[in-house]
Amino acid sequence: MNPTVDIDNQKTLQEATAQSRSIRRYTDYQQITLYKDINPLDWEDWHWQIRHRICTKDELAQVIKLTPDEEEGIRKAKGRLSLAITPYWVSLMDPEDPDCPLRRQAVPVSAESVISPHEMVDPCAEDRDSPAPHLVHRYPDRVLLLATEQCAMYCRHCTRRRLVGDREVHSNGDVSRFDAAVEYIKSNRKIRDVLISGGDPFVLEDNEIDAILERIRSIPHVEFLRIGTRVPVTLPQRVTEELIKVLKKYSPIWVSIHFNHPKEITKRCKMACDMLADAGIPLGSQTVLLRGINDRPYIMKKLMHELLKIRVRPYYIYQCDLVRGTQHFRTPVAVGINIMEKLRGHTTGYAVPTYVVDAPGGGGKIPVGPNYILSQAKGKYVLRNYRGKIYTYLE
Ligand SMILES: *Cc1c(COP(=O)(O)O)cnc(C)c1O
Repeated sequence: MNPTVDIDNQKTLQEATAQSRSIRRYTDYQQITLYKDINPLDWEDWHWQIRHRICTKDELAQVIKLTPDEEEGIRKAKGRLSLAITPYWVSLMDPEDPDCPLRRQAVPVSAESVISPHEMVDPCAEDRDSPAPHLVHRYPDRVLLLATEQCAMYCRHCTRRRLVGDREVHSNGDVSRFDAAVEYIKSNRKIRDVLISGGDPFVLEDNEIDAILERIRSIPHVEFLRIGTRVPVTLPQRVTEELIKVLKKYSPIWVSIHFNHPKEITKRCKMACDMLADAGIPLGSQTVLLRGINDRPYIMKKLMHELLKIRVRPYYIYQCDLVRGTQHFRTPVAVGINIMEKLRGHTTGYAVPTYVVDAPGGGGKIPVGPNYILSQAKGKYVLRNYRGKIYTYLE
């Protein structure tokens, strides 16, 4: 069968083929000299992955061919945002190509130390809206709990770089640091939704995750929990049967996963998402619009399609926040609007997330997108559809 494809899809296919040639499959890590003797059981052990993260220039130079600009970037990143890359993520990076979309998200470059005029330490003013340690309360009915300052991997575009970045993962099961946050939620009966993020909550040990969920779940007016994570993408080995057992106890829990590029959706990543989805956990995605990584409509569309195939519902595309040292990642807002224009109507509605600007200064997420209302008068809307054809709706 020869399915008809539009020009955009044709590009997708060509791109996908070109990309798959450079993708090393997750079983192929043994082709990397540094990992050639690793026992597959170790490779599948998330603690082993954490312990063996690449954290220095010398280690990184063993697995990829560093450019002088990356070397400078690593030197200058010291004391700003930690470098830590899981062996799993290393196995997906192109060792020869500094423009590899996975490499660019993980390896510092010199542009990271350039601070541009509008950039801020805390662009969304989260610290100002913090009524208790580790808690951000911005919207009337929901709060954000920052469960840890650690991640499996540190994304170079991180918006919470002011907080995150410890290379040591501390998790001793002691959750007393959230006492004030839990008290605040308890005493504010309007809060029906608690979003647990960080850092990445899933770098904590199972017993600590259990203890946090237990404390929040036991608050009667909290109807709904969410967890924001990137672990299925950066460390899929972390999604274990034991973790799933913990999560299932506190259903309903929704999980939002940070995905930026179709190459991130490997067989191993799919296994982790399958385990979550099979446990009845609804999955959503969050994507940051990043220059040279996912700023072309056909790449973003491919990502959204791949997400639906692994049962992840695209939720948000974020305009890259005005956080210090990220100018090289940022696109004009028009780029995001154009991507939305190329999605809505052209593909499955479920594949269309909401594009948002998280307002500088703390106004929250503001949706932006193409304008479909051409004019509006009493009892009459003049609209255009995704093809540009004009329709009138009479009220
Ligand atoms: C993103 C965010 C939320 C959750 O927003 P939703 O649109 O409900 O997903 C809550 N609090 C803060 C501070 C946030 O940044």
